[in-house]
Amino acid sequence: MTDSRPYMELTEHNVLHTYNRFPVVFEKGRGVYLVDVQGKEYLDFGAGIAVAALGYGNQAYEEALQEQIRKLIHTSNLFYNIPMAEAAAKLVEKSGLDKVFFTNSGTEAVEGALKAARRYAYGKDGRTDHEIIAMRHSFHGRSFGSLSVTGNAQYQEPFKPLVGGVRFADFNDLDSVNAQISDRTCAIILETVQGEGGIYPAERGFLEGIRELCDKRDILLILDEIQCGMGRTGSYFAYQQYGVWPDIMTCAKALGCGIPVGAFVLNEKVAKSSLVPGDHGTTYGGNPLACAAVSKVFDLYEELGILNHVQQMASYLEQKLDLLVEKYDFLSERRGMGLMQGLVVKERPVGELIGRALENGLVVMSAGGNVLRFVPPLIIEKEDIDEMIRRLERSF
Ligand SMILES: *Cc1c(COP(=O)(O)O)cnc(C)c1O
Repeated sequence: MTDSRPYMELTEHNVLHTYNRFPVVFEKGRGVYLVDVQGKEYLDFGAGIAVAALGYGNQAYEEALQEQIRKLIHTSNLFYNIPMAEAAAKLVEKSGLDKVFFTNSGTEAVEGALKAARRYAYGKDGRTDHEIIAMRHSFHGRSFGSLSVTGNAQYQEPFKPLVGGVRFADFNDLDSVNAQISDRTCAIILETVQGEGGIYPAERGFLEGIRELCDKRDILLILDEIQCGMGRTGSYFAYQQYGVWPDIMTCAKALGCGIPVGAFVLNEKVAKSSLVPGDHGTTYGGNPLACAAVSKVFDLYEELGILNHVQQMASYLEQKLDLLVEKYDFLSERRGMGLMQGLVVKERPVGELIGRALENGLVVMSAGGNVLRFVPPLIIEKEDIDEMIRRLERSF
């Protein structure tokens, strides 16, 4: 048993204080449980913010990484490497899109998507005043481009001026999007299921309407699937359940199941008339280690039948969460898709609930200020859901 305080103090002394962390120092993980330095076990319904889809300690995944580490970790994008070739082919196949650019994070994937959209429009008319429409309550990342399309005044305000030419509309309100369209609009960006903003799935009519609008005016549709993609909603990408295809898709979080990696993926139309050599690049992006992870993740999803499993577990989780909404007055609603679920909390600070859940050995997260967010590893079983409900109710 180790004392956690020295690690917390050392961190606070040396790491820039941009997070108010919970007082827990995690040391290892097994399956869907995390273990802190004192040996206490936590059932993990946060998965490192929707990252650890395969949970912790998956042997085949770890062996694939170990093997790649022994062979080659990094080479740069000036050369070809085997894992990138294989990972890209799998991502193209599963996304139904055509060309991949690997990044190191979600925010970089969004940066690339925005640049590709501007580049595409520039190629058409040579103008340099193209606009992008984004949604209120969206989240696309913390770097300047992605922050500029993040509909959260608090995140944006201290960093202005941001990237120009961004207009905001209301999510799930087609009229409000239409009102922002101009002859300079080059792209519309949205999360298929809004995550940080409070777990709001796009309505079918809204997404179909946006696609139609984009088709009519040759505006590019960018779907941010960084949180809701990679099987979380029961299909590889959430848009596949709507039958609405993006022109550009962004992906990260569970893409590497813990290895930092992201990607933006383009359809043929955009791929052949946007970014060309010299327009975009990255030193690490698509490196052999990251891509070995991506490649293995796709193989394991198939072997384990993850999509089917998510569909089954999701309906069980939904049932259990709906029962909580019936039972507790301070829970007003459940929202979500697949294993990306939120409970709307009234009159109680969500942060306090999360703190008490931690004391009871349960990791849950918040979203949108008043939502309890459930984004567990995709390998959870019914008994894990039952145990989560027990620990959560103890925290209520
Ligand atoms: C987490 C997230 C991002 C940012 O990803 P980072 O890897 O943290 O940069 C962007 N978009 C969505 C929808 C996200 O959930």
